[in-house]
Amino acid sequence: RFDRARQACNSLRNRYTSSYAVYDMDMHEKEVYSAKLLEDFDRALAEKQLQVLYQPKYNIKGKEPTLASAEALISWQHPQFGRVRPDAFIPLFEENGLIQRLDRYVWREAARQIRVWKDKIGYTVPVSVNVSRVDMYDANIVYTLLEILEESKLEPGDLHLEVTESAYAEDAEQIIETVKRLRSMGFLVEMDDFGTGYSSLNMLSSLPIDVLKLDMKFISTAFSEGKDTHMLEIIIEIARHISVPVVAEGVETEEQMTALKNIGCDMVQGYYFSPPVPAEKFEVCLQEARRKQAAKE
Ligand code: C2E
Ligand code: MG
Ligand code: MG
Repeated sequence: RFDRARQACNSLRNRYTSSYAVYDMDMHEKEVYSAKLLEDFDRALAEKQLQVLYQPKYNIKGKEPTLASAEALISWQHPQFGRVRPDAFIPLFEENGLIQRLDRYVWREAARQIRVWKDKIGYTVPVSVNVSRVDMYDANIVYTLLEILEESKLEPGDLHLEVTESAYAEDAEQIIETVKRLRSMGFLVEMDDFGTGYSSLNMLSSLPIDVLKLDMKFISTAFSEGKDTHMLEIIIEIARHISVPVVAEGVETEEQMTALKNIGCDMVQGYYFSPPVPAEKFEVCLQEARRKQAAKE
């Protein structure tokens, strides 16, 4: 009873309009669901229910889009619930300490896959992996990443790191310190979900980042009814001013792609080009990129 009362109470956090909450069936079901996901994690790893998918990022600066890199995204095919979206378990795993094991699994798997592509097709693109805020507080993170690279005989340039903007807002100094260490080892750091956190524009120029990834809300808002790309243009202009390339996420239509190209966006990721796909399917993109490159040479 105490636990349930506390849970109902916690649900009021940051909700300033209600002063009471009731532990109901809804809350109970969510709790049971979360507990089940936590309990099933070990088995999911062992039974390969967790699959790493790859979503291409295209460079749109030139006449034709060219494959620039990929993002590794986790996907869980649960035997009982079907496909579980990362948003349902990433925050949960961050709270319960499992995220580090999950992230290491993804980093290692992505590195292994890059090595396979290098050996098999003699060509690859950098793959960016998501780095949870929790990982950023781990004093061993640099060592862990270097070890993973060494296992697959890769260079730091092969793995890009995505750190969400909201992590910077939490404990900016500590995060910036870690980002600096990672960059000094040769890793390229992308700021993910820009626009969802609270870093001020003023701070942007002093942050040590290599790439700015605009959150997809920017895209959906800019292209919603009464299309207004003004904000986008301003952000891209600022990024250009501080010489940081911009990736737009969640680009779904040709209209969006063309407009982004016209306002100077460097790279695009989204369903317009491809959803996240299994490694075998991404390999087709790689083969094609390699053919195009060979044709140019
Ligand atoms: P994110 O890193 O911002 O990843 C982009 C998300 O946008 C992915 O959702 C992707 O499938 C989705 N997306 C891509 N293109 C489009 C599009 O054109 N339209 C729409 N509507 N969506 C698009 P996903 O796979 O559900 O991942 C959600 C979030 O979960 C990620 O956001 C990331 O923050 C987190 N995540 C995923 N995999 C990992 C992981 O291995 N480790 C950690 N720490 N976080 C992860
Ligand atoms: Mg990301
Ligand atoms: Mg993002």
